[in-house]
Amino acid sequence: MYLTIDCDSPEFSFLLHKHPAKVHSKETNFGEAHVFYPSPQRVSLLLQVDPLSLTRRGGGHVFALKPYVNDRGYVASSFLSVGLNLMFRTALAGRCPKHPELVEKKFAFRVEFPVLPSRGGEKVLEKLFAPLGYQVESSPIALDALYPEWGTSPYYKVVLRVDSRLQDLLRHLYVLIPVLDNEKHYWVGSDEVSKLLAKGDPWLAEHPEKEMIAHRYLKHRRGLARQALEVLQEEIDDPTEVESLTEDVTERKIGLHQQRLETVSQRLLESGATIVGDLGCGEGKLLRYLLKGKRVERILAMDVCLDSLQRAESSLERLHHKKREKIELLHGSLLYNDDRLKAVEAACLVEVIEHLEPDRLNRVAANLFQRLKPQTLILTTPNREYNAVWESLPAGKFRHPDHRFEWTRAEFEQWAGQVKDDYEVSIEGIGEPHPDYGCPTQMAVFTR
Ligand code: SAH
Repeated sequence: MYLTIDCDSPEFSFLLHKHPAKVHSKETNFGEAHVFYPSPQRVSLLLQVDPLSLTRRGGGHVFALKPYVNDRGYVASSFLSVGLNLMFRTALAGRCPKHPELVEKKFAFRVEFPVLPSRGGEKVLEKLFAPLGYQVESSPIALDALYPEWGTSPYYKVVLRVDSRLQDLLRHLYVLIPVLDNEKHYWVGSDEVSKLLAKGDPWLAEHPEKEMIAHRYLKHRRGLARQALEVLQEEIDDPTEVESLTEDVTERKIGLHQQRLETVSQRLLESGATIVGDLGCGEGKLLRYLLKGKRVERILAMDVCLDSLQRAESSLERLHHKKREKIELLHGSLLYNDDRLKAVEAACLVEVIEHLEPDRLNRVAANLFQRLKPQTLILTTPNREYNAVWESLPAGKFRHPDHRFEWTRAEFEQWAGQVKDDYEVSIEGIGEPHPDYGCPTQMAVFTR
């Protein structure tokens, strides 16, 4: 799978943070990604998708594609978005500390895809790119050149031309390629809503086809598309609202994620621990907060999801190596008795337990309270009672589609008392309290 971007100035390589004289390669969990410059004003992204690795990933993923014979190795698809994010993360974020003036500069770009699937044909291509100022040139690819009577395939050779900032170009491609393909390669969870909103910033709110984009990007999961569209509507109503997009859409409005990270990290650091664990670390948002602790020597960040760990890893790329060395990202599960975590003195599980099946919770609790036994253990989870305050959350619904349960304050307190073993426990709230429903997040601090 191959993508070429031409630019009217070689300056764009500063923004890409990739030296033009080198080939840059990274492993992904579906194959290898390479970036290189055939000429100073042309950059290419080559993805080698290994269909066998896709088959092996199978467990838990909804994978409609035939395992061995499929088009994924050849066509621009959501893998290309993953590749763009992996190789050009800083450019996508619109950051360039060395040449900040280039971030806002508009360049003339020409983007070429040898094979781009477009479900809905050339009309859809035009509908998606033209409103963003692109000139679209496309030619359909025959199903088989030897048998023209078979007609054309849903694949096109496509050239796009646009004058824009690099970050906008990359964000458009990141979102619109999977939309064109209309085939997602992994399960769509609620963090896809955040990704869509982050990469759709600032252009998606005004796009005339934003409904089709949200529905196709979120693989026709109606509830998720509605969440995304609600936030986009709010952005039109209140364009000044720019906050972290990594958190749950409902919670985002009150900056709850941020408050949780601040409170939990503060409590962990106060414990005086030198080795701390972030279990179910997700994209590693807490790690930067933990690095602020002067006494902290090692941080073990563990998650079951490889994709999240990879995102954590790329978000840590720019840290000073002295800081980066303190962090170990571990692929593992709370369900296992994991010796790598033995040294941990203080640990947290921030918004993790509600993602576990209730019948597995006892096993996780036994691992934490009877085997791992850190001096301090902090757990946070939503307070279900507070959901009544959010009008946009239908009654009886959870905050995240992936939540297996959400507890009332009494339920959490009862559970904490039951699992605590020889720990003391104190339960506190995080976020602005409501007089009847309490705080949106509940936190249990266990000490021994
Ligand atoms: N603590 C992070 C992420 C919370 S989302 C934050 O606050 O931003 C919940 C995380 O728990 C996900 O990253 C998910 O992959 C992880 N998780 C779910 N089950 C797990 C298990 N059995 N072992 C380890 N991590 C798990």
